[in-house]
Amino acid sequence: MPKYIFVTGGVVSSVGKGITTAALGRILKSRDISVSIQKLDPYLNVDPGTMSPYQHGEVFVTSDGAETDLDLGHYERFIDEELTKASSVTTGQIYQAVIAKERKGEFLGGTIQAIPHVTNEIKARVRAIGRETEAQVVIVEVGGTVGDIEGQPFLEAIRQIRREERPEDTLSIHVTFLPHVGSTNEIKTKPTQHSVRELRSAGIQPDIILCRADHEVTAEIRRKISLFCDVHESCVISLPTMDSIYQVPIVLQDENLGDRVIELMGLDAKPRDLAGWRELVERLEHPVGELTVAVVGKYVELHDAYLSIKEALIHAGIAHQVRVNIRWVHSERLEQEPVGGLLEGVDGILVCPGFGERGIEGKLEAARYARENRIPYLGVCLGMQIMVIEYARHVLGLLGANSTEFNVQAPHPVISLLSEQRGIEDKGGTMRLGGYRCRLVPGTRAAAAYGVDDVIERHRHRYEFNNAYREQLAAAGLIASGLSPDGELVEIAEVVDHPFMLGSQFHPEFRSRPDRPQPLFREFIGAAKSLRSGLDAGILSGERERVAAGGAGGA
Ligand code: GLN
Repeated sequence: MPKYIFVTGGVVSSVGKGITTAALGRILKSRDISVSIQKLDPYLNVDPGTMSPYQHGEVFVTSDGAETDLDLGHYERFIDEELTKASSVTTGQIYQAVIAKERKGEFLGGTIQAIPHVTNEIKARVRAIGRETEAQVVIVEVGGTVGDIEGQPFLEAIRQIRREERPEDTLSIHVTFLPHVGSTNEIKTKPTQHSVRELRSAGIQPDIILCRADHEVTAEIRRKISLFCDVHESCVISLPTMDSIYQVPIVLQDENLGDRVIELMGLDAKPRDLAGWRELVERLEHPVGELTVAVVGKYVELHDAYLSIKEALIHAGIAHQVRVNIRWVHSERLEQEPVGGLLEGVDGILVCPGFGERGIEGKLEAARYARENRIPYLGVCLGMQIMVIEYARHVLGLLGANSTEFNVQAPHPVISLLSEQRGIEDKGGTMRLGGYRCRLVPGTRAAAAYGVDDVIERHRHRYEFNNAYREQLAAAGLIASGLSPDGELVEIAEVVDHPFMLGSQFHPEFRSRPDRPQPLFREFIGAAKSLRSGLDAGILSGERERVAAGGAGGA
């Protein structure tokens, strides 16, 4: 039977509860304890798939096609396990299931209530993931902060599970924030005390309190929290703000979080070992060079909207020992201001995924700039479609080329609706979602990057490369380099005569790990690094243009 660790948050949101949860997973896994992680999100949406990125940030897609909270991305990157839809539970899903049962008459005439019907459904989901994954420990993170009205059924379900299981089989970790008052230069514990009181009023006494703070948490403060919140002093753990999220497992390990958890839960564990992870962080912190990648999207003011892309670029940078600086470029600005100004001096251009027409022409400008100036380009999903449209317009001369997503009457619909999508009206969960096999075309850059015959990558789209234009585009130098096993869908396309111009219909960023960069990202950054070193050499002799054009051996 699995053991459960429940992670709740107090005081304020956005203090890194998701990363803390992911980091704890990593610590336990490094001690040979198998782990899975689940997120309980108290909002009423069934999933975040239909939410605006302004509300929610990125939608992370699991291999089995669930559209989930971005915290699942942190979990996968830290524990390196493929999670499934069982890892993402929302109030919307819970009510949907309860009401469906009610309609079928499964409650035999009973009155349906928050307790026990809603809480039973929550408990069933928590227990299901333990059974399905056979993990020794399931870490369950509750979204939001303790005290939120929507979160109450989840806390009640947790209270019941804690009562039903043996005491050593569950653990409660409360992540709080300790504010600093500048005028008196003091760190304050009162909000934490209140938050713990709130948690207790839901019937949950925390076992460990994890204090996020921007200033040092002294022994005296720990003693105070220990006394007021009835938690052993060694179980008051401090987590200062770090430069990189990848440092968090190391800091928490040094703070003995793993030891406390293992001790309190009576787990059998190997001695501490984060050597590999430390090495990785070491490489991240000591790059030998740096380069700049323009990330073009319409939500760039909110970096969380492209979180996995940002992390995948960092991972690729670690592999090449370079710091990848991101220049966030708003696609609409590219429509209003000179492109050459906004993209000047970048070593690579990445065009982001997206839906809808806003900013499309700006993204096309970015693709054109990359192609004409021979700057490495990586197109993700919509970014791949953009690359195809731009090529059709400016290389093939098909001026009306477009995606039917933006113009149903496009004279040259080089991107068109997937046949399976015709007639679908519901917005939620109806795209082509999750992992699909992709066959790599021998001799292409994509095949060389992966070094295998086929791969499984994750998708989230409704539109596709229109096969009616495949031959024409290939003859002009834009070829399909990854195909669905039946050869029908173009999953990767690339420009033959360019240092690196490639786009994938899938989202390579979801499978990138800090210690295992995704191959397309890795090659993209490799190409950017080559351009940079060529430029650095060329700039000395004032030959920037010639180097960028490939004339001075940019490779
Ligand atoms: N809007 C495009 C489609 O649905 C691209 C989607 C995406 O970038 N995820 O095909």
